[in-house]
Amino acid sequence: GVRVRFGPSPTGFLHLGGLRTALYNYIFARKHKGSFILRLEDTDQSRLVPGAAESIEDMLEWAGIAPDESPRRGGPVGPYQQSQRLELYHKATEKLLESGAAYRCFCTPQRLELLRKEALRSQQISRYDNRCRHLTAQQTEEKLTQKTPYVVRFQMEKGVEPFQDMVYGCYQNEVASVEGDFVIMKSDGFPTYHLACVVDDHEMRVSHVLRGEEWLTSTPKHLLLYKALEWTPPQFAHLPLLLNKDGSKLSKRQGDTLVEHFAKRGYLPEALLDLVTNYGSGFKENRMGRVLEELLTEFDISRITTHSACLDLEKLPEFNRFHLSRHIESESLRPQLVRELQAEVEKVHGDQLLDPKVLEKGYIEKTLMLRKGHISCLKDLVSPSYSFLWVRPSVPLEQLQAISTESAAIGSLTMGLLRSESVLTIDVLAKELRALQDQMKETKFSSIMKVLRLALSGLQHGPSVAEMMILLGPEESCQRIQRAVS
Ligand code: GLU
Repeated sequence: GVRVRFGPSPTGFLHLGGLRTALYNYIFARKHKGSFILRLEDTDQSRLVPGAAESIEDMLEWAGIAPDESPRRGGPVGPYQQSQRLELYHKATEKLLESGAAYRCFCTPQRLELLRKEALRSQQISRYDNRCRHLTAQQTEEKLTQKTPYVVRFQMEKGVEPFQDMVYGCYQNEVASVEGDFVIMKSDGFPTYHLACVVDDHEMRVSHVLRGEEWLTSTPKHLLLYKALEWTPPQFAHLPLLLNKDGSKLSKRQGDTLVEHFAKRGYLPEALLDLVTNYGSGFKENRMGRVLEELLTEFDISRITTHSACLDLEKLPEFNRFHLSRHIESESLRPQLVRELQAEVEKVHGDQLLDPKVLEKGYIEKTLMLRKGHISCLKDLVSPSYSFLWVRPSVPLEQLQAISTESAAIGSLTMGLLRSESVLTIDVLAKELRALQDQMKETKFSSIMKVLRLALSGLQHGPSVAEMMILLGPEESCQRIQRAVS
């Protein structure tokens, strides 16, 4: 069956590029009723970032694309952290040493540095000169008894065969002549990425490798390793890079592309998944508003092109507004939003709430229903422009009088309106407010609205006056107007 893996290094937190790679793997697995594996590639012990491993898995779960097998969940081919699989890499290394496909290299860091400098001087790509290939068994033995530190290098052969990438098509890269023999086992007993990746993809029975395009040039090395180990390689599909809008590389080092950062700011996972698939390829069309189910049905790997995708992060609020509205409208998703907003209101305005009732489900739900489509994040509703919903504003009388000396009259007419027996809706109120003008010939309609908005919210901008009244309810609206004008 289909088995795919996402293999991040916990040398950093999950960023949008990684999220996209994981998502493509997830979709591919689901489409083919296969398994999606999370494997932590933590062989570079010096670059590990504390907390990154945990956070990567947290974020996949948060995004709704949790792996089937992972460090946390376990699975049939674990452990799922490379640092716990060292034995497997040593076994493979032994096999390669025995067959002569690999050899021990005792070159000192100083010598390698010299080679690098020489290459630099002659403007050539730094290349190991394969010197230790030619050590005799006896020389090797001597070095080993002297306990000279060594690495193991893979002996590359010329004439690498081209392979068929599912995205890039026929690909060939004559690595041997360019780079020299590459290291598979480091002197600290940890494997390099190349060896670990090949051993694990084989041991974990990975059928398809979907990974970033930056690994395309490494794939010929991996294929040589498969051949030397006499294993059948998986199929490869390299995914074009995800770039910033300006064409620069989306880097893990840029804090503002970290998934966790967006989660903390209150963005919905659906908005992020929608956004990262909207500028790439793999789908017949790019459009906003797809949820995971639709991404699944619309995805077709043969539609992935080799063009890199430019991410327009400025569109995120718009994407989130769309998905937030969808959540608010959904009977099953709304309760969660209600709970989140309750918690936010408590946190931000808890000590000055106008009434404990504003934390009740009814009030919170009404607010969400009326404001959907206007807010891009749930947290917008606890920003200063919405504090009137939770906290009673104080409105100095002079401020009202400066707008209109008829404030008191405006107030009492409006209160009459609000106390009428008729069922109040936004439309009814809007019409009746317009009719107020007839009774107050001397005052401009816009002034009436300004007075009322200020009295209700302490603000000069915001939702329509009629909507504010419905949001607050007739009783609270009357109280505010009363207090403001007297
Ligand atoms: N550890 C690699 C990374 O961090 C994974 C490369 C691969 O998928 O083979 O991107």
